[in-house]
Amino acid sequence: MDHLVKAIAEDVRVYAAITTDLVNEGIARHHCQPLAAAALGRTMTGALLLAANLKNKECITVKFNGDGPLGNIAADASSDGFVRGYVAHPQVELPLHNGKLAVGQGVGQGLVSVTRFTGLKEPVTGSCAIYSGEIAEDLTRYLYVSEQTPSSVGLGVLVGTDLKAVAAGGFMIQPLPDASDEVLTRLESNLSQICPVSTMVQDGMDAAAVIRELLQGFADVKILTTTDLAFRCQCSKRHTEDILMTLPRQDMDQLIADGKAEVCCQFCGEKYQFTKDELVALANVGDKLRERQKQAVSK
Ligand SMILES: [Zn+2]
Repeated sequence: MDHLVKAIAEDVRVYAAITTDLVNEGIARHHCQPLAAAALGRTMTGALLLAANLKNKECITVKFNGDGPLGNIAADASSDGFVRGYVAHPQVELPLHNGKLAVGQGVGQGLVSVTRFTGLKEPVTGSCAIYSGEIAEDLTRYLYVSEQTPSSVGLGVLVGTDLKAVAAGGFMIQPLPDASDEVLTRLESNLSQICPVSTMVQDGMDAAAVIRELLQGFADVKILTTTDLAFRCQCSKRHTEDILMTLPRQDMDQLIADGKAEVCCQFCGEKYQFTKDELVALANVGDKLRERQKQAVSK
């Protein structure tokens, strides 16, 4: 069962997540080859870790706009443990780089951006240049450069020969401002010695065990919360209707002439079918809304 654990010890905040099942759902929904599976899985796991810092009902979008063959990669995650995501070109394959999936090459160069939706104020977006395209390094750098939060993010997705994720997970470590140099040195030493997080997950570790591994030699490791995680998209036929209603009339007329329409959700691959009658009704509602807007403007 996928989950995220928050813990604290000696002025260090640590979050760890096990995400194998939700990464598999993302792989299945988008028919990912291994390279895209790793890139999407890391991005969704990273988004969940960043979202864990938010308050209830808040959410975050992490987006990689790179010029590599994978195209854009995005994930939306909420503080209550739900995530959805997509990669523009899930079928892309590249030769292995040093025996590993060439995620950095697949992502390419460009911008990583993070948008926080707090519900109260306007969404806030920060961004910085993609550093390596390996996702974890980029998020570490983003947090430091754009949010002035020293962090260490680790992400791992191990893809099997059957194209399924065997193990996926990640962690985020943030020393609090009061953390001593000795604590920082101990952390760095631990980080240089640990196994890749996908290996820890493959070995059967849960998130609390990953945290204990990261915090070896730390006294007083306090587990604060455990949250279940899952892939979930907020799309619905009703929401898709709202989008169709705002399309220009000539676009709707084209769909009506085609006799039917199928709208596919970019985030989860869910397909919504519309009959000709439904399209005519939506086009008419759209006309009325535009008419009302015009009247409101002229008043
Ligand atoms: Zn969807």
